[in-house]
Amino acid sequence: MTRTIGHHWLNYIDGAWVDSPNRLDVANPANGEPIASVALATIDDAQRALDAATRCAASGELTRQRPAERVRWLLRIADEIRAITEEGARILCLENGKRLSDARDEFVEAARYFEYYAGLADKLEGISVPLGDDYVDFTRYEPMGVSVQIVPWNFPVSICARSLAPALAAGNAVVVKSPELSPLGMCVLFEAIERAGLPRGAAQLLCGLGRDVGAHLAASDQTRQIVFTGSVATGRAILAAAAQWATPSVMELGGKSAAVVFPDSDREQLLASVKSGIFFNAGQVCSAMSRLIVHRDIYDEVVADVAKLAGSLTIGPGEQDPDHTPVISVNQLERVVAMCQQAIAEGAQAVAGGERVSHRAGFYMQPTVLAGVHPGMSIACDEVFGPVLAVIPFDTEDEAVAIANGTSYGLVAGVFTRDINRALRFSRRLRAGQVFVNEWYAGGIETPFGGVGLSGFGREKGQEAIYSYVQTKNIAIRVAQGSEV
Ligand code: NAD
Repeated sequence: MTRTIGHHWLNYIDGAWVDSPNRLDVANPANGEPIASVALATIDDAQRALDAATRCAASGELTRQRPAERVRWLLRIADEIRAITEEGARILCLENGKRLSDARDEFVEAARYFEYYAGLADKLEGISVPLGDDYVDFTRYEPMGVSVQIVPWNFPVSICARSLAPALAAGNAVVVKSPELSPLGMCVLFEAIERAGLPRGAAQLLCGLGRDVGAHLAASDQTRQIVFTGSVATGRAILAAAAQWATPSVMELGGKSAAVVFPDSDREQLLASVKSGIFFNAGQVCSAMSRLIVHRDIYDEVVADVAKLAGSLTIGPGEQDPDHTPVISVNQLERVVAMCQQAIAEGAQAVAGGERVSHRAGFYMQPTVLAGVHPGMSIACDEVFGPVLAVIPFDTEDEAVAIANGTSYGLVAGVFTRDINRALRFSRRLRAGQVFVNEWYAGGIETPFGGVGLSGFGREKGQEAIYSYVQTKNIAIRVAQGSEV
């Protein structure tokens, strides 16, 4: 039985589910109807969560025993997540608007993060540094203490697991803030975490407003590390708060990522990548393929093919698993429509979509392809965070690189070609944290992910990420020689 409709969800602080005087209604983007509510955390709740995490981190309960104990906790969490995947996916699909199968994939991926970082929890080995016979010198990786993690609404469950798993694996206590628009799936995730039997205070969940609860967490001197995933504007505010205590931060911000397409590319492979690259999750993906930079020899054909693809997508609520689902909110819908209108006013042509879906009550944007886009237009520079593809022509490799690298962002980039030398040349020249060759979203939880420029800094995923959750301590010991005793 699903608890979605009418259920009231709580915050998880210091090992208990707690209510709050205020509640936040959560609506279904497919029809705008409220489906459930969540206790809206206050600043006092945020402080209680920080205190609980601080106590837990200081108690040594997460680090005293052999790391194999943390391995077992994380593996238990992975099992518990698998057990609640169906219910969690239904709730996430309803609150977020995403396809049911994609919601299910988020829980599956969340379980994988815990499994993956369980495999690293007992392998955080320091080094021994030779300093001559008079010294023994070695390094230790120690947890940061309290890790604050602020999560966006587009993939709340998998993004939460992406940071929570390595933080716990490294022995940190964590305070997670869920997004206002899609907090419920994370409550289900935390039920699974609770069942795994972690020490009290190891992980807390707060659904609070960014401007008070989020800001309080970011500004606290009890916060020893911040992991933020979200917009550039919020990232800047958090960095300003973090500056006060020099709190180390990982910033996973937005993107305006480009795929460069050469005439020798495989068209079917390209179209499959366009479908997932810009229309998956209604384009609300930080690493979406929002620009297609196409060689002029095939520009008209590719524009026609992607327009046909966009026009062929089935549209509907996430539960029906169509190709295309609503965006998260009416504000998001209006923003996306306005950006398309501005692009058209600047000279772009909407060869598919460009408007909201008029006959549906929810927040549906038409799958949109804009042709005739020039690199200087705002649609070619600013993140839309919706199902809108801008197609830009190029003539030479140098021009393609200049256009691809010509925004302030640098999250991901792609190149489509059968020429391996060109693929390798491009992989080197593209300014991005990861490059996809012939398949958008290639890679996985095992591969480091993060951006350059306004896309942020620090890496999540893969082995590298766990080192964001520890600090190196060097211990140098003077050894008394025999004659000195
Ligand atoms: P957002 O910045 O509006 O909100 C993100 C989170 O920050 C929310 O939990 C919000 O409550 C909180 N927040 C807001 N103001 C705050 C403040 N002053 N202090 C502390 N916390 C505050 O972003 P969003 O609209 O939820 O998500 C969309 C954005 O996230 C897009 O720009 C997208 O590109 C980016 N994103 C990046 C990645 C990545 O891994 N690089 C992944 C997903 C989304």
